[in-house]
Amino acid sequence: MTDIPVDATDTPTPRRKPKPERTEIGGRPLKPSTLMMGHGFDPELSEGSLKAPIFLTSTFAFPSAADGKRHFEGITGQRPGGAEGLVYSRFNGPNQEILEDRLAIWDGAEDALTFSSGMTAICILMMAYVSTGDVIVHSGPLYAASEGFVSKVLSKFGVTYVDFPAGASREELDAVLKKAKDQAAENGGKVAMIYLESPGNPTNALVDIEAVKEARDAALDWSCPIAIDNTFLGPIWQRPLEHGADIVAYSLTKYVGGHSDLVAGSIAGAKKWMDPVRALRNTMGGIVDPNTAWMLLRSLETVELRMERAGKNAEKVCAFLASHPKVDGLGYLGMIEDERQKDIYNRHCLGAGSTFSVFLKGGEAECFRFLDNLTIAKLAVSLGGTETLASHPASMTHLSVPHARRQTLGITDSLVRISIGIEDADDLIADFEQALEHV
Ligand SMILES: *Cc1c(COP(=O)(O)O)cnc(C)c1O
Repeated sequence: MTDIPVDATDTPTPRRKPKPERTEIGGRPLKPSTLMMGHGFDPELSEGSLKAPIFLTSTFAFPSAADGKRHFEGITGQRPGGAEGLVYSRFNGPNQEILEDRLAIWDGAEDALTFSSGMTAICILMMAYVSTGDVIVHSGPLYAASEGFVSKVLSKFGVTYVDFPAGASREELDAVLKKAKDQAAENGGKVAMIYLESPGNPTNALVDIEAVKEARDAALDWSCPIAIDNTFLGPIWQRPLEHGADIVAYSLTKYVGGHSDLVAGSIAGAKKWMDPVRALRNTMGGIVDPNTAWMLLRSLETVELRMERAGKNAEKVCAFLASHPKVDGLGYLGMIEDERQKDIYNRHCLGAGSTFSVFLKGGEAECFRFLDNLTIAKLAVSLGGTETLASHPASMTHLSVPHARRQTLGITDSLVRISIGIEDADDLIADFEQALEHV
C-alpha cells in the first residue's frame, strides 16, 4: 500500500494505443495513398474489425477518476496538446481522431482538426485568432460565405479587413501589409491573420504563397499566421504548407469527401496553430460527427485515384472547349496565359485540377440555355464529386456579391463554372457539344 503516489494525477492509466505501425519500407517512407488503408487504427482494439467501427456514443468511460481529471486538464488547456484520452463527443472521438491523423498526413502537417462543415472550420479558425481592433488581411475573391463572415459578422465585433487581388506581387503585398498595420494601430489592435484562398473561386486566380510569406516575415512577427483555403486543389495538386502557409483549411465536402454525399471541413498545421482553434471548438462544438468521419475515411482511400482521373478528364474536356466557336475563353489552370499567374502555377501547383470556368459568347441567357441542355453534367453548385456539375456563379453562388465587385473579380454573366467528375471523358465532351449547339 505504501507505493500509492501522493498525487494520483501523475500516474495516468496508459491508453490502449494502436500497435506501432509500419511507416517505411527499406528506409523509404510510405506514401499517403498507402497509409490511408490503416494509419491510426488497430483492428485488435475493435474485435478484429478490419475497418473502424462507427463509435456512436456521447461520452467515454474513464479508467479512473485521476484519469478523468488529467483528461480535463488537457481539454481546458492546463496541460498543452489537448486531451490524452477520449472524453466527450463534443471534444473528440475515435473516428474523428483517426480521420484527423490521416488528413494531417496528406498535407505533411503535425496536427489536424475536423469540423461539421468547411464554413464551421473557417469561422472557428478566424474567431480563435481575432480580437476587437484586429485586422484580417485576405486575398480576393474568397468563397462568398468566407468573405461575408469577415465583412458582415466579424465586423460586428470591431474586426476590420484589408483585401488584395489574388495575383498581387511582393511590392503590392508590402503596401497591403503596411496599410493593414496602420489600420490595426489606429483601431488599437494587431494584424491577426493573413487569410488566402488559392485558386480563388470561381475565377481560378492564384495567390503567390511564397511572396505572402516573405512579406509577412518582413512586416510582422511570427504570431500572425498565414492560413489558406486549399479546397480547390488539395490535398493532391497543391501543398501550401511547403510554400510558407502555416494553416491549411478545407471544405471536405468537395474533393476529399468526393461523392457529393456529405458536408464537413478541416484545418491542418503545426500543433501550436491548432491548439487555440481546438480550444474554441471544444467550447462551441462543431466537430464532425462519427458517421461523417467514417465516410471520410472511406473517401480518403480513393482521393488520389479520383482526383487523378478527374484531372485527366478536365484536360480532355478543356482541350475540346478551348477551340469551340461559342466559347470566349477558359479559366483553367492547365491553360494559363498570364505570365505572373503561370509563374505562380509552376512554383505551387502539382496539377491543374478539374474545376474551371468557361466564358460563353453572350450573357446570362446563353449560359442558362447551355446549362438547361446538359444531360450528363448536373446543374448544381458544389464541386469535386465523382459526377460532373455545372453552375452559373453570378446568379447562384455569388449572387450576394455586389454587382460592381463581381465585375472587378471577373465573375461576369457569361461565366459558367464546371467541376469535372470521373465519368468517361468522351461522353462528357459529347454532352458539352450538344448543349453548346442549343446556345
Ligand atoms: C464549399 C467551399 C467552402 C465551404 O465549405 P462547406 O463544406 O460548404 O461549409 C469553403 N471554401 C471553398 C473554396 C469552398 O468551395
